[in-house]
Amino acid sequence: MANSNAYKGLSTTAIHAGEGPDPVTGASAPNIVMSSTYVAEEVAGFSAHELSDDSPFLYGRWANPSVRALENKIAALEGTQSCLCLASGMAAASAIFLTVLSAGDHAVISDVSYAGVAELARDTLPRLGIEVSLVDMTDIAAVEAAVRPNTRLIHTESPANPIMRLTDLAAISEIARNAGAKHSCDATFASPVGQKSAELGVDYVMHSITKYIGGHGDAIGGAICGTAEDIKALSVEAAIHHGGILSPFNAWLIARGTATLPLRMRAHQEGAMAVAQFLENHPKVTRVLYPGLESHPQHALAKGQMRNFSGMLAFQVGDEATGEALAVRMAEDLQVIHYAVSLGHHRSLIWWMPTAGMMDTSFRLTGNQLDSYREFAGDGIFRLSVGLEDAEDLIADLDRVLG
Ligand SMILES: *Cc1c(COP(=O)(O)O)cnc(C)c1O
Repeated sequence: MANSNAYKGLSTTAIHAGEGPDPVTGASAPNIVMSSTYVAEEVAGFSAHELSDDSPFLYGRWANPSVRALENKIAALEGTQSCLCLASGMAAASAIFLTVLSAGDHAVISDVSYAGVAELARDTLPRLGIEVSLVDMTDIAAVEAAVRPNTRLIHTESPANPIMRLTDLAAISEIARNAGAKHSCDATFASPVGQKSAELGVDYVMHSITKYIGGHGDAIGGAICGTAEDIKALSVEAAIHHGGILSPFNAWLIARGTATLPLRMRAHQEGAMAVAQFLENHPKVTRVLYPGLESHPQHALAKGQMRNFSGMLAFQVGDEATGEALAVRMAEDLQVIHYAVSLGHHRSLIWWMPTAGMMDTSFRLTGNQLDSYREFAGDGIFRLSVGLEDAEDLIADLDRVLG
């Protein structure tokens, strides 16, 4: 009875997809299978290329039952044929880039993305002979103009970390299709609940499952969802050859978190809306960016493309010095919200990101692209991941440090 992925509702899917009672013991909750190797019942080949999904488990780097269960659960939530889980969100991003792209190929990559991805795109890919164009994905004409005959991949992130800028995923998918390129999207901020990225034409839907999917801040992992054929190729390259597999223990922890993802996303959205409205009415706050607010410059796109606005928001308090001083007060004085990086956990997390510093370390934007970034981030933003605490406690905590 395990592995039926055909449930009507997202909550039932989150709970039951990929798992079922243990056939030997009847255990209702899944066991962790830690074994690195498996006793074979027949003499088998030894090449990754001979493995299929119904092959017996042979060795833990090729496949593992606990990781497979999580992959089936996430694929069911995302509505794709397959999913590959890896050791981190960055392992997932590298897997896509290093599987799809070869020396001499060209990629169009969002000019604002998770900092690790931005640095990989700017520094590592060119070193391997891969040409990269960094483009503002809200500028559809610029994306079209960036495409070349050797473009193999367009990589987007929506909502984009840290500025909460959205990308019209269906429009970018069409450009990719016409160019004969693949479209990968980092949908970490939305989670599979907030956005059905594959339905919008995305070929590789990527998540840092360290964030909403795991949801509890205690396990690092990454996932890529797509067609069986694309995911098989990724698995051979990134898991079997590059070796960045997810540990079964982390898969088990993250699967436990995934079971409550739809429920948590509803609560994250409710809390974030309350906090966003409080911030929007606070005299010291100059700008709030939350896709669920009417004041978000892309609220119409958000309503069309997202089913849940998640718990991520950003806000400004004026110039860099004011932001810096508030960041210091936050690090010293916040009592509920943790001043810490990362996001998507049940605990609320906040982090200050000054624009000048972000440009030096990660983005290095100039001209129109810098203007577009500053339109969202001004001199700097606080990235707030609204957790699952009571909104009144989060608001009181913020109100005290805002002064
Ligand atoms: C955290 C994050 C990543 C990287 O994930 P890790 O699990 O930390 O490697 C990639 N993209 C986004 C949007 C993230 O928030």
